[in-house]
Amino acid sequence: MNQEPIYLDHAATTFPYPEVIESMKDQLKTVYGNPSSSHALGRKSKAMVENARKSIAQMMGCQAKEIIFTSCGTESDAWILQSAVRDLGVNRIITSSIEHQAVLANVEVLEGQSIQIDYVNYLENGEISLDHLERLLAKSKEKTLVSLMHVNNEIGNLTPIDQVGDICHNYQALFHCDAVQSVGKLPIDLKETKVDFLAASAHKFHGPKGIGFAFVRDKHQLKPLISGGEQERGKRAGTENITLITGMAKALSIKFNNLKADRKKVLQLKHYFIEQLRQEIPQVVFNGTCLDDTKSADHIVNIRIPVKETREGMLLFQMDLKGIMCSRGSACQSGAQTTSYVLKEIYSLENLMPNLRFSFDASNSKEELDYCVDHLKKIVAKNPV
Ligand code: PLP
Repeated sequence: MNQEPIYLDHAATTFPYPEVIESMKDQLKTVYGNPSSSHALGRKSKAMVENARKSIAQMMGCQAKEIIFTSCGTESDAWILQSAVRDLGVNRIITSSIEHQAVLANVEVLEGQSIQIDYVNYLENGEISLDHLERLLAKSKEKTLVSLMHVNNEIGNLTPIDQVGDICHNYQALFHCDAVQSVGKLPIDLKETKVDFLAASAHKFHGPKGIGFAFVRDKHQLKPLISGGEQERGKRAGTENITLITGMAKALSIKFNNLKADRKKVLQLKHYFIEQLRQEIPQVVFNGTCLDDTKSADHIVNIRIPVKETREGMLLFQMDLKGIMCSRGSACQSGAQTTSYVLKEIYSLENLMPNLRFSFDASNSKEELDYCVDHLKKIVAKNPV
């Protein structure tokens, strides 16, 4: 049988929706003006950028001026963290050691500049300890920024951002949320949630790569990371990429309009996958909180597989050979052959069998999951611990 490739790596990236590609093609052909030009074509381009901003703001529950276009989630995280220190007098950051590298690497840069960094403890399976967060906040009067991701990209753990926002608010701390894995996949209402800053990336919600946005609540004035022209109200210099910006807005509106139906489908797939794994390979161990829907994202299942440790490097290769695309963790770290830093943080090393991360989308099917579980079962049978 010639098996079609099966893409189960939607946490790494998603395919651009055909409607997104079409709208970007149209835009490229017709509206090529520089949004800063004052002539008709420039004004038309500017209008497209501003309409995209308004549409994203409306879906996120914020004001248009609070959305700033960036090149990706990483840039949004870097800008927010570095500027909060430079421009808002933040001198202490509370984060977790299982954040994405886009946060951790920037936190490290700031630590080198004598900013105090505190790491919040976890409960079982990597759940953030809200009690510990509160104790850390109560301990010091330093101007503090809390940076916690909404959905962990490796294990899918969900941070209760409403609760975190309330806690931060009670202690006058600022709250930055890396929501790269949740925007377009989970409902977020910035009117209700006490988030000061948020990072998002279009390629995670069926938009194009190379574009993202930062939400910066109106009361905070961040200066740009890259200085130059006055684009983005002086907050990010450089001619706006209208094609990618309008593509991102289109993708988010499709996701937004289908959110309920897509979530239902993805959750069904997740449940089915877990059920099949338990039935066919009972020794599989589930990482993070994925067995509890109230504490995990719909789209990520990360498992430890009962095969010899020496087979770790071969696992992905063997899946790929059968046309199954998944990963071991963050795509940015996939070159590294070492065990995931997220898993090492949460679990003791002796319990760590080789792991794989599967991440779903409404475009996947149960048949694809059957094929995947069947192949995994064969790998386990051929490589017993
Ligand atoms: N934050 C999280 C949680 C992510 O999953 C990713 C991408 O994998 C990023 C940040 C970086 O986003 P981008 O690829 O747009 O730079």
